[in-house]
Amino acid sequence: MKRKTTQKEAMRDVFRQLDRPLGIEEILKAGRERVPALNLATVYRNVKLFLEEGWLVRFNHPTLGTLYERTGKDHHHHFYCRICERVFELPGCALNEKQATPEGFVTESHEIFLSGVCMSCSSHVLEGQCEV
Ligand SMILES: [Zn+2]
Ligand SMILES: [Zn+2]
Repeated sequence: MKRKTTQKEAMRDVFRQLDRPLGIEEILKAGRERVPALNLATVYRNVKLFLEEGWLVRFNHPTLGTLYERTGKDHHHHFYCRICERVFELPGCALNEKQATPEGFVTESHEIFLSGVCMSCSSHVLEGQCEV
């Protein structure tokens, strides 16, 4: 019983420390750095509990598929880095729904996914390329 709690806490730590949306494999990898005995079944089981508790929310990313993130954040969008394949949160929203919507349509929600190269990858990998 105590061991399960430890693994669950390790998974919460992963979300708190990385502070970005994560897929199952990433949760497993980062969780194992904290608790080496962590396995895929436990990750799935705890993610399910976190969803039921309302601590995590699930969304579908067009490139990576199912990702999980902490609840309670303001409206925001996601940036996918094609080099490190991480997804980052972009706080706020630059879309004016009224301007983006044709006459006669009523927008009730929207999703925007941005992709490209993140700050750390653009400084390491693309050094010297001026178009980025
Ligand atoms: Zn990157
Ligand atoms: Zn938005």
